[in-house]
Amino acid sequence: MPTFTIRTYGDPVLRQRAAEVTDIDASLVQLVDGMVDALYAASGLAVAAPQVGVEKRLFVYDLNDEKGPQTLINPVIEESGEEPWTYDEGCLSVPGLYFTIVRPKDVLVSGLDIDGNEVRIEASELMGRMLQHEIDHLDGTLLLEHLQPAQRKAGLRILRERQVTDRRPAKGDPITIDPEGQIVDD
Ligand code: ZN
Repeated sequence: MPTFTIRTYGDPVLRQRAAEVTDIDASLVQLVDGMVDALYAASGLAVAAPQVGVEKRLFVYDLNDEKGPQTLINPVIEESGEEPWTYDEGCLSVPGLYFTIVRPKDVLVSGLDIDGNEVRIEASELMGRMLQHEIDHLDGTLLLEHLQPAQRKAGLRILRERQVTDRRPAKGDPITIDPEGQIVDD
């Protein structure tokens, strides 16, 4: 099984549009196993293939329910609801930073599971947000592209400072930036 590290902001692989999966074969199953390992190692909710440097349209997720790790291949957003939903969104590729982001609350997503079966998922709130975020990764889009101008400026400033000093917030001490670019005190 491959051992993956999560690629972080600044890595060009995160900006590429990933290719459709054409074969669900043994090598894809191995890739998924490695991605699930990376997901649990990072204590994340989901990992998209480009985050481990593989430009294929799939992601794995586990929302800590009884289902265990799930895989979605070649996912497409079929419909987005009109109702907005606000959530402090984070990304394993932008570690330690959360951003208050509004996106549609409800989505209908189609795709394939690891057995090649067609699936349709109606999701809202956290599950809906996760699906939108991961599908963005497959299109080379990071959550930074969903920020308000002041919020983006504040986020990019912190990322720039970190690249200079390699100073990261201590684990368990994340920063949340609101749409006005202010750091939210919990
Ligand atoms: Zn992400």
